[in-house]
Amino acid sequence: MAKVLLVLYPDPVSGYPPVYARDSIPVLHGYPGGQTLPSPSAIDFTPGELLGCVSGELGLRDFLESNGHQLVVTSDKEGPDSEFERELPDADVVISQPFWPAYLTAERIAKAKNLKLALTAGIGSDHVDLDAAIARGLTVAEVTFCNSISVAEHAVMQILALVRNFIASHQWVTDGGWNIADCVERAYDVEGMDVGVIAAGRIGLATLRRMAPFDVNLHYFDTRRLPDAVEKELNVTYHPDAASLARSVDVVSIHAPLHPQTYHLFDEKLIASMRRGSYIVNTARAEICVRDAVVAALKSGHLAGYAGDVWYPQPPPSDHPWRSMPNEAMTPHVSGTTLSAQARYAAGAREILEDFLSDKAIRDEYLIVSGGGLAGTGAASYTTGSGASPGSSGK
Ligand code: NDP
Repeated sequence: MAKVLLVLYPDPVSGYPPVYARDSIPVLHGYPGGQTLPSPSAIDFTPGELLGCVSGELGLRDFLESNGHQLVVTSDKEGPDSEFERELPDADVVISQPFWPAYLTAERIAKAKNLKLALTAGIGSDHVDLDAAIARGLTVAEVTFCNSISVAEHAVMQILALVRNFIASHQWVTDGGWNIADCVERAYDVEGMDVGVIAAGRIGLATLRRMAPFDVNLHYFDTRRLPDAVEKELNVTYHPDAASLARSVDVVSIHAPLHPQTYHLFDEKLIASMRRGSYIVNTARAEICVRDAVVAALKSGHLAGYAGDVWYPQPPPSDHPWRSMPNEAMTPHVSGTTLSAQARYAAGAREILEDFLSDKAIRDEYLIVSGGGLAGTGAASYTTGSGASPGSSGK
């Protein structure tokens, strides 16, 4: 019998289940590039349901309990008195979502004597101290591709929201105004702009593809170059490093994982090297940007706007400066947890659990850490090293 500790965000304040806006979600048949969708033996939920909050339980309770396993679900994750820390010492599996991350620091991993699997219901396992996980021989897995398109859609939305000054214009309407000049004094078309992505992986490439029809000049930097055919198809300019990309674009959208190479990449110096009036959209991880450098650049007007959905820590305190900085279009960490995405990562979490609990190999593309080292997607996209993984910073 395994004890599975599932950390999920709280239920809606209006109660659970909500009244759904739509009766169903579209059925997908695969991911771009050919990766297959999650394939558990069965699911015990209806796709389109709210699964990522405590009462949704990722639809896992029946499956786990009918197989003799124990499921503990909580949203109480911070500090030594939290339910998460109380339940952790004898948990075999910890599952959490990046939107409401249960930070698995080295200290917590040391307390979790039975822990074997840290499962991310989503993408991005930087809330786990990967060095400590490797040293302990844990498996870290995530549901690769489950919400990549969800995030790309959000990034495109936030690029347009910033450049076209949507948030401020909407505010004038809800305040009862019709102040056209006030709305448009910061509004532009994206057409003709230089738009670049940091990392052209699953999300970054999908963002490039979605921006191409806007007739912008596309740019990217990645540690590995896209195939020639893709570069030609998108007419996208490759940059050998982030600095070259940053000084060449009007809009940058960040899509790299957070790891030692990307931690605080967008610091005061890199931001200062960007064109005056540039926009940054960051749906990857907050700590790729230096928090106060972003605030200062918005206040000075060097940056025309900053948007994203990732913060540090999560949830951020009520006085986090990104809540009140000028010309922001922030959301909470929601881009990858649409009801559409939840159906995929709940199914993927179950697939990974089914394999893990029956001693079968977890799909290689789902692996981040396995067998004492980076593995699968982790080996392709992450690096390890002291002090750079936020899990390891224990902040
Ligand atoms: P992928 O693994 O498909 O892509 C990541 C890309 O980043 C790879 O192409 C990788 O290169 C590249 N990369 C790694 N390090 C660097 C670096 N130092 N500089 C430039 N490029 C680098 O992941 P996804 O596209 O699916 O997701 C990316 C990230 O987005 C996740 O790690 C997560 O942090 C975030 N995310 C956010 C979500 C949200 O809700 N806001 C939801 C899902 C993900 P290589 O070719 O070498 O592999």
